[in-house]
Amino acid sequence: FVRMMKKHSIKISNATRYYPGAAKPAIDDVSLDIAPGEFMTFLGPSGSGKTTLLSIIAGFVTLSAGSVEIDGQDITNLKPHKRDLGVVFQQYALFPHMTVSQNVAYPLRQRGVSKAEIEKKVRHVLDLVQLGDFAHRLPRQLSGGQQQRVALARAVVYEPRALLLDEPLGALDKRLRDRLQLEIARMHRELGMTFVFVTHDQEEALTLSDRIAVFNNGRIVQIGTPTELYQRPNSLFVARFLGESTVMEGPNQGTSIIVRPEHISLKGLANNCSEGELSKPARITDIAFAGAHLKVGLAFAGGAIGSSLITAGNPLSFQRGEEVLAVWNRENQHAVANENVAADSAAG
Ligand code: ADP
Ligand code: MG
Repeated sequence: FVRMMKKHSIKISNATRYYPGAAKPAIDDVSLDIAPGEFMTFLGPSGSGKTTLLSIIAGFVTLSAGSVEIDGQDITNLKPHKRDLGVVFQQYALFPHMTVSQNVAYPLRQRGVSKAEIEKKVRHVLDLVQLGDFAHRLPRQLSGGQQQRVALARAVVYEPRALLLDEPLGALDKRLRDRLQLEIARMHRELGMTFVFVTHDQEEALTLSDRIAVFNNGRIVQIGTPTELYQRPNSLFVARFLGESTVMEGPNQGTSIIVRPEHISLKGLANNCSEGELSKPARITDIAFAGAHLKVGLAFAGGAIGSSLITAGNPLSFQRGEEVLAVWNRENQHAVANENVAADSAAG
């Protein structure tokens, strides 16, 4: 079973969804192509429409307009259980009276798979999520993380065309979450199937994804690889949602200049800049030790605030409250739109 599965594409075209009585759509004219085998993440603040779009793919929520296709086949009007998709939500939703292996076997029994085949597949998939030794336990005898791994096993055991995950790690504490993140990344590598993953956690999105779709107000405001989104955000909203930056007034009205903390170094006020460097005086507001780095908070004249990340190997010769010169290369500053135009119009 732990072999590469067939890879399937998902295409969403002009999807719009109004919930009954709502004045504005929860999903507003969204189009998206998910490549076969891709790890696609929906990232955005609470209420931005991530769960609604995932539920549209799953078939739990119907469209007011638009279409969903898998491998070019229109599935817009297909019932959820006919779509052949695996689904995992934040709440484990295991059957409490069934053992781990009975839980995992359930979707196979529903599909009339033979007993011998069920046994083989359940064993293999429990090994995949490293729960081979827990087959006969009941859900209540497992930790939250183990329960969620059972849910993962149950969602992929019938070899669905894609796996849809809605904040599956949201209920777990930080350490467990980090561990399960790695497990999910490994599952994706080993199975090779298409994953669509919802989170509001930017670190989780950056760690796991081939591509990230950033949601705001029912729209996808930018889509790209983690590196593209981090290095080339198209708006202040995306820049702020994915990492920190120093934000300064831009050359034109409606734009800002952003510089990421790892691109800002600090010099004494008396220093000069080299060719290609830009600088601004700033006051150090705080210095935080973060293991491999020091994070230095900066306040600029005119009210802008920002930060500089200094590798801990370089000793910092400044103190809190001191005036310094914040220095960066011109190529590392980036102009972005203050507001996302799409998000604005969606907000009406
Ligand atoms: P997210 O998953 O990004 O937090 P959702 O897709 O759950 O966002 O919600 C998007 C918008 O739709 C929100 O304004 C939310 O209040 C609304 N919404 C979600 N589910 C329902 C529902 N079942 N009925 C009415 N409104 C809903
Ligand atoms: Mg949600």
